[in-house]
Amino acid sequence: MAKAAEKQFSCPSCGGEMIQKSRARLSIVGLCMSASVAMAFVFPGFWVPGIILALTGIYLLVWATFGQARWCRTCKAFRAKAAE
Ligand SMILES: [Zn+2]
Repeated sequence: MAKAAEKQFSCPSCGGEMIQKSRARLSIVGLCMSASVAMAFVFPGFWVPGIILALTGIYLLVWATFGQARWCRTCKAFRAKAAE
C-alpha cells in the first residue's frame, strides 16, 4: 500500500508519461478552490471566476475521491485508468 506519491504510468490515449498525484493534496486544493466561491459575497464581480474555480475544485475533489488521480502530462487531463 505504501506507494510513492508520484509513481509513473503511461497514458492509455497517447502513451505519454502519467504521474499519480497525491489524493490528499488534490482534496485540499479542491476544497480551497470550492470555498473560494464565497469570495463572491464580498466582491460581486467575483461570481464568474468564483464559479469556474468552484467547478474546477469539484472536479479535483471527484478525481481525488473516485479516480486514480492520475494525470497525463501530454493530454493535460486526468485518466481513470492507465497502462502500467
Ligand atoms: Zn495522454
